This record gives sequence, structure tokens and C-alpha cells, in this order.
Amino acid sequence: MRIMVTGGAGFIGSAVIRMLIGETDHEVLNLDCLTYAGNLDSLTSVSENSRYRFSRTDIRDLPALRRAVKDFGPDIVMHLAAETHVDRSIDGPAAFIETNIVGTANLLEVARAHWESLEGETKARFRFHHISTDEVFGSLGETGAFTEETPYAPNSPYSASKAGSDHLVRAWRETYGLPTVASNCSNNYGPYQFPEKLIPLVVLNALEGKPLPVYGTGLQVRDWLHVDDHARALITIATRGAVGEAYNVGGNAERTNIDVVRSICRLLDELQPGAAHCPHEKLIAFVADRPGHDARYAIDASKIARELGWQPRENFDSGLRKTVEWYLDNRDWWERVRSGSYRGERLGLIDADT
Ligand code: NAD
Repeated sequence: MRIMVTGGAGFIGSAVIRMLIGETDHEVLNLDCLTYAGNLDSLTSVSENSRYRFSRTDIRDLPALRRAVKDFGPDIVMHLAAETHVDRSIDGPAAFIETNIVGTANLLEVARAHWESLEGETKARFRFHHISTDEVFGSLGETGAFTEETPYAPNSPYSASKAGSDHLVRAWRETYGLPTVASNCSNNYGPYQFPEKLIPLVVLNALEGKPLPVYGTGLQVRDWLHVDDHARALITIATRGAVGEAYNVGGNAERTNIDVVRSICRLLDELQPGAAHCPHEKLIAFVADRPGHDARYAIDASKIARELGWQPRENFDSGLRKTVEWYLDNRDWWERVRSGSYRGERLGLIDADT
């Protein structure tokens, strides 16, 4: 099949594309406008493959999007392109509204026109797969987990913009019959993640002897999933998910943020015993909490297990070890990323002086 992946130069999109090229026969179009978070270096292992192509296109640009979709003629659209960093959404929500909501509406319209032009078997197999987050469900108390029936209650501009896009996808299915599937996933970690997100930020700051910022008490709980497990789930949902369904995807690996940071410190102490900053825990710095910070996320992923046979393969401890080793072994990748405009500074405080 011909699979168009939006946001394919990002963290999760690039993992999906490496898996599609490496483990299937599908043809892939990576459609990405290369924001600060997009990085074609994450795709060097597949960029020469004849089944891979790249289009530098912004989903906010409707005519360009229309041309790209017409040229490629996708059987499946996997929509990952988004502004994704909660702290940046606090500093500047406009880009989140424009890309995550208006961009998704553009893509739905272009996909609908394309789908309506198809016939027979090709029309029947067309799917629009929308990739979203568990953050649309808001925050949990000490117990329980998000299911596909949990009501939406987004708390940050990021999660509200993703919730908006989820509702648009639903409306395009109900109103126009566009064959959509959707998924909501918990926090991902793994190689090639932009170092503004918790795990790579902590690894790289620790290597450089910089403070390891922990927001508030550090007792917020996240449910971690290895990015390759997510990529496998996404390919399963895009190719075998039932039209009109949403699937929650999670790793069954709840950890507090402070536990994650301490685990990384211990791994670095072990992997870099002679490092100047051992023990790395000394670098931990509790800083002002994120405004509107959700206390706990946890995913009930039993539906995708039951209906599509997907289970995570990686456990968090071994996955975290491999991830830390990857950052140690792939300095070139992150040094190039860090030489750009982002250097690990704190983002997302309403009052910048706090
Ligand atoms: P990312 O920030 O690493 O990558 C986003 C990609 O989208 C980048 O390559 C960027 O260049 C591209 N992009 C942004 N705006 C665009 C535009 N206007 N037009 C075209 N391309 C554009 O994000 P990620 O972590 O890989 O997340 C991918 C998707 O998965 C997002 O939709 C996100 O909401 C969702 N998600 C992420 C996580 C997570 O833990 N990272 C968890 C659940 C869901």
C-alpha cells in the first residue's frame, strides 16, 4: 500500500517510517514541514530506499497539501504532524491551534476529496488514522486508568488543541463518512526524541553537568511506552483497526517523574563511572511546577490487546537502559540538534521570572 505519514521527521513519525520501510513492503511518503522538532537525520537509514520519499509540506498550506496528496495517492494517511511540547503551548498557544486544529481540518478536507475520487477496492481500503494523546482525558487521581470511553477534559493548550483535532476527525467520519481510525497514547520514550522532553533532556543535561530540572514535587505519574512499541501499535491500527474506532495505547509502566530522573542518574553512574558529575543525582534541581500540570496519566490498553492482539514488548527498565545507551552512542545526532535554536532552557512558565 501507499502510506502517507505526516510528521514523519519527528520522534514517533520517524520510528513509524523506519519500521514501515524496514519491516513491510509498503511505499511511504513522509510529509513534514520540518519545524524545530523535525529532523531528517532520524531517517538516514531509510532515505535511500526506493519505497521512501519526502515532501516538505506544511499542513497549514491547503493548496500545497492538496498537491502532495494528489501526487502520491495514498491508501492510508497516518496523521502525526503536530506541535507537541506542552511547555511551548503555554508560551505560545497560537501555533498549536494553527497546526493541530486548522492543519488537521485541512488534512481532513484534502483526504476527503481524495477518498471521494477513489472507486471500488481502493476506496474501500482507504483509511485516515489520527494519532493523538492520552492528555486529552485530563488528569487522574491515585487510581483508575483512561479507557476509550473516558470523557475529554484537556488542561493545557496542547491537549486542548489535540482534543479539538480528535473531535474534527470524529465529525468528518459522522458527517462525510470518511473512514477514520484514531488512537490515544501515553508518554513515549526512546531514540531520536527531541531533547526538550523529560528523558533526553535529563540524559543530556546530566552528561553536561547541568541541573536536572524536576517540576514541582516530581510526584506526577506518567505511563511510559517505548516508541517502537508505539510504532508497531500504530501500523497495526492503521492497517487492521476497525473504522470509527479509537484505541488507547499504553505501556503499563507507571512511574513518577522523580523516579524516572533517579533511574537515569543511576544508569549514567553505571555506564559512565569516571564521569565528572557522579553521582548524577547531585544535579537534580526541583523547580517551579508547570501551570496546570496534570497529576497522573494511566492507560487501559486492553481493547487494542483484545481486538488487535497488540502488546508492548519492551519493559520500562530495559527500554530506559537502551535509550540512555543510545544517547551515549549517538552524540552526533543530538549535538546537531542542540546546536540549533534550542539549548535546553526552561520553557512554559507564565511568569518568566519565577
Ligand atoms: P515531534 O514534535 O517529535 O514531531 C512532530 C513532527 O511534526 C515534526 O517532524 C514537525 O516538523 C512536524 N510538524 C509540525 N508542524 C507541522 C506542520 N504544520 N506541517 C507539517 N509538519 C509539521 O512529535 P512526536 O512526539 O513524534 O509526536 C507525534 C504525534 O504523536 C503528535 O501528534 C503527538 O500529539 C502524538 N503523541 C505523542 C506522544 C509522545 O509522548 N511524544 C504521546 C502520544 C501522542
